[in-house]
Amino acid sequence: MVRLKKKPSAEEVRGIAASRIRTLMMLAEKVFLEDRNLAQRYADLAKAIGAKSKVRLPRALRRRICRYCGAYLWPGVNCRVRLRVNREPHIALTCLSCKRQMRIYYKRSRKRQTE
Ligand SMILES: [Zn+2]
Repeated sequence: MVRLKKKPSAEEVRGIAASRIRTLMMLAEKVFLEDRNLAQRYADLAKAIGAKSKVRLPRALRRRICRYCGAYLWPGVNCRVRLRVNREPHIALTCLSCKRQMRIYYKRSRKRQTE
């Protein structure tokens, strides 16, 4: 068999994957309010493409997908967002479909490191 196209380089693959992830997550956001299943499908695809191509989801998008069950999260609809200050200030993001929490630390104190 004659190969007509050369195999894309790892960088090309990553570039394509990153743009597809962005597009899928954008689409998920667009359709969520009308069709949650479709939004979930887009999020699953974005996650799968990221895993296959070893592209990490950008931070803002990573927070839109439950780390544990992969649900597409929409604050106030299927996830709860609370600010907590016990131990260290963080955002507690609770996924309401699996009830597990993701913590996002903010204001990492320099004091704690020197103490
Ligand atoms: Zn979950």
